[in-house]
Amino acid sequence: MNILVCIKQVPDTKIIKINPKTNTLDRSSAPAILNPYDAHGVQEAVRLRKIHGGKVTVLCMGPPMAREAIKKCVEIGADEGYLISDRRFAGADTLATSYALYKAIQKLMKQDGIDLVLCGKHAIDGDTGQTGPGIARRIGIPPLTNVIKVEEVDLDSQQMKVRRKIEKGYEIIQSKLPCLLTVEKEINTVAYSPLPNMLRAARYEPIVWTVDDLEDVDIKQLGLKGSPTIVGKMWPPAKSEGAKMIDGDVKKQASELVKHMLEKRELFEVKGGEQA
Ligand SMILES: Cc1cc2nc3c(=O)[nH]c(=O)nc-3n(C[C@H](O)[C@H](O)[C@H](O)COP(=O)(O)OP(=O)(O)OC[C@H]3O[C@@H](n4cnc5c(N)ncnc54)[C@H](O)[C@@H]3O)c2cc1C
Repeated sequence: MNILVCIKQVPDTKIIKINPKTNTLDRSSAPAILNPYDAHGVQEAVRLRKIHGGKVTVLCMGPPMAREAIKKCVEIGADEGYLISDRRFAGADTLATSYALYKAIQKLMKQDGIDLVLCGKHAIDGDTGQTGPGIARRIGIPPLTNVIKVEEVDLDSQQMKVRRKIEKGYEIIQSKLPCLLTVEKEINTVAYSPLPNMLRAARYEPIVWTVDDLEDVDIKQLGLKGSPTIVGKMWPPAKSEGAKMIDGDVKKQASELVKHMLEKRELFEVKGGEQA
């Protein structure tokens, strides 16, 4: 069973500061770590490899320093890691990120075949949770989000069953393989890495691809050029005034909501394309 895990290097948001002048993240104020949800993704892939055999590959888009996040995955037990790194990827929103990762996955699918793609539920910095479903849509495989347990994998019939977290409980979903899961932290406990893995990780050098190593890439869909999203403004969480329920039918609720937003319009004003 060949499993690909998409992993992101993120600033440690428990420590990161917000620049009070620009209201943007001061990325230099916190160490870079492996996105915690992605560590759970790698752990799950390693668990499935133990049962079904095959290989665990990790894929990351990021600057050269993101090698360290890939090495961390090798510590957890990944077999190999690819970093796609190029100035032309820089400034990507989730649309451009999922396009770049999709192009790398296409190449890996041709190389080795992939039965399952895993992503974290979200990245703790960008926090959109859109990248996984975006990749699945582009590859044309089912996205199963918020997975808390892999119930069953049947490689003969190419089917799997997972348990998904929903608002008031969980549901069991069956899907054909390949598919893409986004995982919650409840899916497993990330174990302490055994010494041989740590030694291997210390010497491990990820394979680095630039845009030129990928096939049939539309440059216009990469990086800042391929990113229609603009982060207009960020501000620290305001003190909650408490939730207010709006009564009435949907039309009345919508018009009340718009009225309230217009009253608070300074909170929603967009001031040009600052970066997250
Ligand atoms: C206009 C604009 C400019 C931006 N410029 C920058 C910038 O210069 N620098 C910057 O760091 N961010 C920038 N961002 C943020 C960047 O778009 C997001 O971090 C990125 O698209 C991923 O989205 P997310 O963090 O919400 O991930 P989510 O969708 O929440 O992540 C879910 C999962 O997707 C996978 N995943 C996400 N990102 C990656 C990745 N890079 N590689 C592999 N797997 C991944 C992981 O499995 C992760 O758990 C910018 C955003 C916008 C809108």
